[in-house]
Amino acid sequence: MRPFVYDRAATIDRAVQLGAHTASGQADAPVQFLAGGTTVLDLMKLDVMTPQTVIDITPLKPSLRTIETGPAGLRLGAGVTMAEAAGHDGVRTQYPVIADSLKLAASAQIRNMATLGGNVLQRTRCGYYRDPSWSRCNKRVPGSGCEALTGPNRNHAVLGVSKACIAQYPGDFAVALVALEAQVEVDGPDGRRTLPFEAVHRGPDQPHIEHSLKPGELITGFFVPPGAWTRSSLYLKIRDRASYEFAIASAAVALDLDGDVVRDVRIGLGGMAYRPWRAREAEALLKGEPLSEDAAEAAARAALKGAVTHEDNAYKPELGRRTLVRALLEAARMEA
Ligand SMILES: Cc1cc2nc3c(=O)[nH]c(=O)nc-3n(C[C@H](O)[C@H](O)[C@H](O)COP(=O)(O)OP(=O)(O)OC[C@H]3O[C@@H](n4cnc5c(N)ncnc54)[C@H](O)[C@@H]3O)c2cc1C
Repeated sequence: MRPFVYDRAATIDRAVQLGAHTASGQADAPVQFLAGGTTVLDLMKLDVMTPQTVIDITPLKPSLRTIETGPAGLRLGAGVTMAEAAGHDGVRTQYPVIADSLKLAASAQIRNMATLGGNVLQRTRCGYYRDPSWSRCNKRVPGSGCEALTGPNRNHAVLGVSKACIAQYPGDFAVALVALEAQVEVDGPDGRRTLPFEAVHRGPDQPHIEHSLKPGELITGFFVPPGAWTRSSLYLKIRDRASYEFAIASAAVALDLDGDVVRDVRIGLGGMAYRPWRAREAEALLKGEPLSEDAAEAAARAALKGAVTHEDNAYKPELGRRTLVRALLEAARMEA
């Protein structure tokens, strides 16, 4: 590990002020916030992230650690741990897709440490990114190329990829947020703002620039709007082993049914894409139609239509389709 300056922020204003001297959205920005530390410290030890300054935001946790549920929707503070949100009664009953996405992630120890703010900004698990002995990685060394295009690429993305990068977004919670049209609340040098969660993660045009937050912007919370679909929602995660593993395919589904007819539906896909993925084409096909197995299959085909595969990940589109079909049919069986 390289030397770095450690600072503690006792207030949000102080965190923002200290964080302002950084580069916008960069994977390896010179200033990093330390929340649970489960991403940032890992990557510093691997010499993948080399921040000059680490700002400990754990003193902010009390103010960022609130969960509010009610008719107006759900608000989750960015300092809430994954375990706290997964175990919260209101989240489990009103937004099961969110509780499931967190409960099925990582390990109990990590869920107790890691925060929701840090979770959405976790970095890809792409082996070429996480191992600096690989010289070609556009995310780590801008302009160097992408080793994954020709090397082993079994767990790489098939949706939203480019020739510059096929790294997969690894998180689960973000897939549920994107499906439920969440908003993210940030405080920054220019004040407070709210943006659609879907706008946070960038595409692969410049892989080393990962998100659209401005220098110094601190995520303070997430807002999930209410909807008739949130109660009949689930997160289905397929992985190589049953626990402590990232998704190779996942689907976040939220359904509002009138009998067997789909009044409304929200779909997110994980384990498939460069960033948390909303499957709008699939949603459009399902709306207003009875939810049969054939309809679910047609929607799943539409969701994976644009998939671009490489040698080892050619299995992914079919797995993604089957995962989505199962998730839709299981969600339809849930009691609203
Ligand atoms: C072995 C292992 C298995 C895992 N399995 C899974 C899994 O199955 N599913 C899954 O989803 N995740 C998984 N993870 C990832 C884990 O969930 C994340 O590491 C964790 O959620 C990150 O949260 P943190 O609070 O520790 O973030 P930190 O490591 O403290 O920070 C991560 C990043 O977010 C930034 N940041 C933190 N808080 C804020 C904020 N409030 N505003 C702005 N920027 C902020 C930091 O600057 C840093 O860049 C796994 C991790 C490990 C080590």
